[in-house]
Amino acid sequence: PCRCGWRGHPDRRCTCSPRDRERYVEKISGPLLDRVDLHVTVPPVEYEAMRRRETPESSAVVKARVDAARAVQAQRLAGSGAACNAQIAPAQLAGFCRLDSAGEKLMANAFQRMGLTARSHDRILRVARTIADLDGEAEIGAAHLAEAIQYRNTDILKG
Ligand SMILES: [Zn+2]
Repeated sequence: PCRCGWRGHPDRRCTCSPRDRERYVEKISGPLLDRVDLHVTVPPVEYEAMRRRETPESSAVVKARVDAARAVQAQRLAGSGAACNAQIAPAQLAGFCRLDSAGEKLMANAFQRMGLTARSHDRILRVARTIADLDGEAEIGAAHLAEAIQYRNTDILKG
């Protein structure tokens, strides 16, 4: 999030000047950041939490879930020119990434509130479709869309 790397850390102190931080964010913000699908803040792992961790899901289990979601996508997108949700053309989004009325309302709100670009709007739709696929759902639900919108959160770079 900054040149020294400690910005937003709960215990360590960022030593960058406000101007340093602005310059750093300017380098990666705007059109470049707009092309990144998932913006996720990863907090530092506390020692105690790390020591008492439960056995994580194995990569094989995760891969099986991803493979299943991709197979569903390939079937849905057959003949469209796209192999997966990320490749859905803007003109085909309305057909492949339909929202119910709750979803439409949520998207309209987010668009206004977050000042989304057309590109980020389309990216959110594709990510929401993917989250629904990972969930094994035929339709994009409001929860899938809300999760996708949350991945556009770039507050750490703004504030
Ligand atoms: Zn810093």
